[in-house]
Amino acid sequence: MSAAHRLQLEPIATPHRLLLGPGPSNADPRVLEAIARPPLSHLDPLYLELMNEVQEMLRYVWQTDNRITIPVSGTGSAAMEATIANTVEKGDRVLVGVIGYFGLRLVDMCNRYGADVEVLEVPWGEALSFESIEEAIIRHRPVLFALVHAETSTGVCQPLDGIGALCREHDCLLVLDTVTSLGAVPLKLDEAQVDLAYSCSQKGLSCPPGLGPFTMGPRAEAKIERRKGKVPNWYLDMSGLKSYWGKDRTYHHTAPVNMNFGLREALRLLCEEGLENAWVRHRDNSEKLWLGLEELGLELHVPHPLRLPTLTTVRIPAGVDGKAFSSHLLNKHGVEIGNGLGSLAGEVWRIGLMGTNSSASNVDLLLNLLELELPAFRSGRVAV
Ligand code: PLP
Repeated sequence: MSAAHRLQLEPIATPHRLLLGPGPSNADPRVLEAIARPPLSHLDPLYLELMNEVQEMLRYVWQTDNRITIPVSGTGSAAMEATIANTVEKGDRVLVGVIGYFGLRLVDMCNRYGADVEVLEVPWGEALSFESIEEAIIRHRPVLFALVHAETSTGVCQPLDGIGALCREHDCLLVLDTVTSLGAVPLKLDEAQVDLAYSCSQKGLSCPPGLGPFTMGPRAEAKIERRKGKVPNWYLDMSGLKSYWGKDRTYHHTAPVNMNFGLREALRLLCEEGLENAWVRHRDNSEKLWLGLEELGLELHVPHPLRLPTLTTVRIPAGVDGKAFSSHLLNKHGVEIGNGLGSLAGEVWRIGLMGTNSSASNVDLLLNLLELELPAFRSGRVAV
């Protein structure tokens, strides 16, 4: 065992970083102040009131009337797992649309919960066509179709036109990953006829990581009521969680109250700005970034109509060591950009403009840095 005197560490001193990678994004200072408030009990009447407010504002940012709309305690993956754990039963036929890394995570989770999984895939950088989805749903007759709206590994925004109606027509639940779209990319959940969706706190909502917003509609509730067995995951079982988040407010687990203070403030910020205005801001700043990158002679990985306003994939120029360059930006300038993930590792950088970080000044700052620092890496003047 270590002696106590060797554990007398200095207080944590995090440097200021501008997080322009795939997430987390910087938290808004107002959110950080809210998180620093003294905790309340998770059953304190003041906290119970805050839960109502958070639920109401989450419904607004998702544009849904879903009764069960809650922040799951945990990151986006916990909320992702909540959708699958609750709805999938052993042997259920499930179809997963895979347009990148996070689709593969959905496949993995569905397999772990015993689903009979069919996969519909496209090369990373493309989106699934409506026709291919229709054909796969007719062929496989799944009870659930899971899809990533904003694929953070590729920078593709999956078009949703007609998919919700198609799923209803074929009696199939639609699960949508909105981790990199909530609050930033146009999405009206009820209008799109999405049955279950999940997200995270650390991207478009300008909050630190730690909460996973989750929502489900009546068709999903009905499927869960028909379950033959218990949800094989105690923590994420909505039958327990909904009594804490519903009228009864019965204890389920000790909620991370301070994170929910932060989420409340983050959602308040979004309500002040207005959802549509936030969508336009993200769009405008990403258009400015795309133009600037192309003016620097860089190539974007995704064709314009499919690009995500929150996450841009830029192809690493030939001869440049992508990781060495992103490390240089972080170490010298305190600016983070992301490296490629999965099959795009070494091929692209990932630039995030999410939540409070989506601003014209951040775009200018990054473009200036690229203009200043990239030539040395291109010409091989920087040893790798
Ligand atoms: N889905 C997508 C599209 C993501 O980008 C991420 C994380 O970045 C996740 C799911 C998982 O979320 P988390 O890392 O918060 O668990």
